[in-house]
Amino acid sequence: MVRLVLVLGDQLTPDVAALRAADKARDVVVMAEVMGEGTSVPHHPQKIALILSAMRKFAVALEGEGWRVAYSRLEDAENSQTISGELLRRAAEFGAAEVLATKPGEWRVLQDLEDLPLTVTVLPDDRFIASEAEFAAWADGRKQLRMEWFYRDMRRKTGLLMEGDQPAGGQWNFDPDNRKPAKTDLLRARPRDAAPDAVVEDVLDMVELRFAHFGRLRPFRWATDRAGALAALADFVADRLPRFGEEQDAMLEGEPFLSHALISPYLNLGLLGPMEVCLAVEDAWKRGDVPIAAAEGFIRQIIGWREYVRGIWWLQGPEYLTRNALGHSRALPEMYWGGESRMACMAAAVGQTRDLAYAHHIQRLMVTGNFALLAGVDPARVHDWYLSVYIDAFEWVEAPNTLGMSQFADGGLLGSKPYVSSGAYIDRMSDHCGGCHYRVKEKTGDRACPFNLLYWHFLTRHRERFKVNPRMGQMYRVWDGMDEGHRERVLAGAERVLARLDAGEVV
Ligand SMILES: Cc1cc2nc3c(=O)[nH]c(=O)nc-3n(C[C@H](O)[C@H](O)[C@H](O)COP(=O)(O)OP(=O)(O)OC[C@H]3O[C@@H](n4cnc5c(N)ncnc54)[C@H](O)[C@@H]3O)c2cc1C
Repeated sequence: MVRLVLVLGDQLTPDVAALRAADKARDVVVMAEVMGEGTSVPHHPQKIALILSAMRKFAVALEGEGWRVAYSRLEDAENSQTISGELLRRAAEFGAAEVLATKPGEWRVLQDLEDLPLTVTVLPDDRFIASEAEFAAWADGRKQLRMEWFYRDMRRKTGLLMEGDQPAGGQWNFDPDNRKPAKTDLLRARPRDAAPDAVVEDVLDMVELRFAHFGRLRPFRWATDRAGALAALADFVADRLPRFGEEQDAMLEGEPFLSHALISPYLNLGLLGPMEVCLAVEDAWKRGDVPIAAAEGFIRQIIGWREYVRGIWWLQGPEYLTRNALGHSRALPEMYWGGESRMACMAAAVGQTRDLAYAHHIQRLMVTGNFALLAGVDPARVHDWYLSVYIDAFEWVEAPNTLGMSQFADGGLLGSKPYVSSGAYIDRMSDHCGGCHYRVKEKTGDRACPFNLLYWHFLTRHRERFKVNPRMGQMYRVWDGMDEGHRERVLAGAERVLARLDAGEVV
């Protein structure tokens, strides 16, 4: 009997588990563009366009390899607009009772599959370096799940940057050589844009008509197939990898990409694999084209952070999405959806998010994430925002980064202390503060940087929890050592900022 082989929009890998387990001669591949997924949160129009274009091209490639593909386009009249609905429709059409699927990255989608009145086999998604079971075994019995220890195991497992059983260059981690402030006087290579072809143009027109979500659709710069993704990787390795490490945490006005890779959407869709990406980077180091600090810093992001957050995601279960350890409840300020902001760093991060569906890690963590955390925004709303607006956002990777790393909503599973800072950090790492309405050096008053005011408000609000944290005690001692009148002015200033946010006024 014919079986249905489900391939989701982020499973565009020719040997993804469900395809490997299927039989070309009798099974039918089901791919479906559905409004249910396009609107589960208001996804950025570029993200929708990327996924649909890549799906269409992948389906054609599968047909070229001899697969029978039942492909539902969003605009098809008979499209039920949900994955489950399309599977049921195809089951009736082909007389199928069985579905082969690769485990989706969202609990919601997994639950929908398990609820189907069909026999559904969900296979592990093995396009990762560590399996779920391997991560669970690593985590078992550990008091603290430190990424660094997991990362070292992944180095040993993959052999990347290893000399025998020792790390190449004599160190596991070259961060002390990386993470420099931004240099304004450097000429930087711009990432190569992929020109939209006819398939992409069709999708862009359709997305423009159907999705009035936050975010600019054009210009659309993303690659939508494996060849384009490989070209983007090669472009990064040749032009930006050498400075990746040192520029990793820097922010510059008008330089949205700096030396970042811009490959997360391709990895997350399955157009690139984590190991091939790391090997390309390791090769560049072996050839002597890039310093070890850059290669190590990059490889750590992939076999360390990316694998680690995925491990945490599956280990924690669906309840992770409801965590709110700090009891935050504020609405997400309008400035996140394109409303005006007088903070230059926020305006830059949100502006490029709107235009490019992209902001790099430090903008996500130390600007938009930091501000939401300091202001006490409900982490569920912050999560919705990150899941919506970034080109690479899929729940398995976005949620642990947002709820765990950025919002401390899991109570410190991913980080031993919250990622919060005053304006001083942003001033050190960027050139935003010079042209800002606010003054980063001012600690009180109406022109004081809101990060300065909210930082102390946050620490005061959560004093009971954090005063015992060995990495934060020093900040409480600094605060306690300040003049009482000064402290009152800081807190009153923070209250004014929060009141303005609540009233929907520009901050
Ligand atoms: C609040 C928040 C939300 C995030 N949401 C996502 C998301 O939805 N999807 C996503 O892929 N990444 C997410 N990240 C991680 C990181 O910001 C992006 O992977 C990175 O900015 C992608 O751009 P790039 O390819 O230019 O990355 P680079 O800075 O060039 O890094 C190279 C690669 O390392 C990987 N990587 C680096 N850091 C992480 C990390 N913390 N977790 C997982 N992978 C990492 C990515 O695959 C990335 O492509 C988030 C981070 C934060 C703080």
